[in-house]
Amino acid sequence: MFSAIQIDKNDSGQTVGLTQLDESALPEGDVLIDVAYSTLNYKDGLAITGKSPVVRKFPMVPGIDLVGTVRASDHADWKAGDSVILNGWGVGEVHWGGLAQVAKLKGDWLVPLPAAFTPQQAMAIGTAGYTAALCVDALVSAGVSPEQGEVLVTGATGGVGSVAVALLKALGFTVAGSTGKASEGEYLKQLGADSVIDRADLSEPGRPLAKERWAGVVDSVGSHTLANACAATRYGGAVAACGLAQGADFPATVMPFILRGVRLLGVDSVMAPKPVRLKAWDRVARDLDPAKLGVIAQEIPLSEAIGAAAELINGKIRGRVIVDVNR
Ligand code: NDP
Repeated sequence: MFSAIQIDKNDSGQTVGLTQLDESALPEGDVLIDVAYSTLNYKDGLAITGKSPVVRKFPMVPGIDLVGTVRASDHADWKAGDSVILNGWGVGEVHWGGLAQVAKLKGDWLVPLPAAFTPQQAMAIGTAGYTAALCVDALVSAGVSPEQGEVLVTGATGGVGSVAVALLKALGFTVAGSTGKASEGEYLKQLGADSVIDRADLSEPGRPLAKERWAGVVDSVGSHTLANACAATRYGGAVAACGLAQGADFPATVMPFILRGVRLLGVDSVMAPKPVRLKAWDRVARDLDPAKLGVIAQEIPLSEAIGAAAELINGKIRGRVIVDVNR
């Protein structure tokens, strides 16, 4: 038996609880993992609160991230004792996930725990941090460089935003963080933000084109914020869009794209192929100061994950949440 968060659905709606499950109930997979830590991402918050239909199979164990040790493997790449990370691939949505002491997964989904990180540090990064690295990779590949001017990170105190601020600063960019948490200016400066702007300045309907300000943008918010970020991106700049914390809509015009050559770069972490993942994890290992992870992350036991998920969705949580599944 093992402890897990389990989500179920019946005629009267969704239920969620901390429960004991039998290992014989684990889904198909060629690698059995003793999980050490999982995390809470925005998507886990949506799954646990039921606010959005991200869970597509019931009963479900949520948790799109995990780090742990291989107990048994029928996959050529992994053997007992290996330290591995899982991010995405529909885990926690259609396949039982990381908010549990044990997981059975496909070996093809796993990446090795980078030597640079302890298991806790890897989960302080998690899907949010690895997605931040994908966004930074996208901007750098698009030719955005520090001498072109300021870059903007929206949802800056969130998981993606916090890691994006720290990574961009490490690369020499001048970073502006937009946040709705007026009290967290000092936190953002500690991570490397050079300036902090009120997210209300970006979240309302704006003009098709605004004064050119940003050389590049990492946007985890969507909706009017993304539209306004594009409208204020400088000639030839790029915007990496990965999130929808404000909304999934994109109420924009094509003007920034056709008059300023602004490029909108979509970023997906869930189905990203393994080489792309390994490159992103390499970037985090190379560029992120591990001391910043201590500022970004807090740790909670599995028993507190359900309550914390609701807080995350209500925008009350700063940075990243690591979940110790054995506590
Ligand atoms: P978090 O909850 O940690 O951060 C989201 C942040 O967005 C909040 O901290 C807040 O920052 C800001 N925010 C929240 N509500 C609103 C609002 N109504 N209007 C404007 N800003 C708001 O989530 P994550 O960092 O884990 O994820 C961020 C987004 O990125 C999510 O939408 C998530 O689904 C998406 N995502 C996408 C991935 C992909 O593969 N494409 C992978 C990972 C995440 P502040 O208070 O500082 O303004």
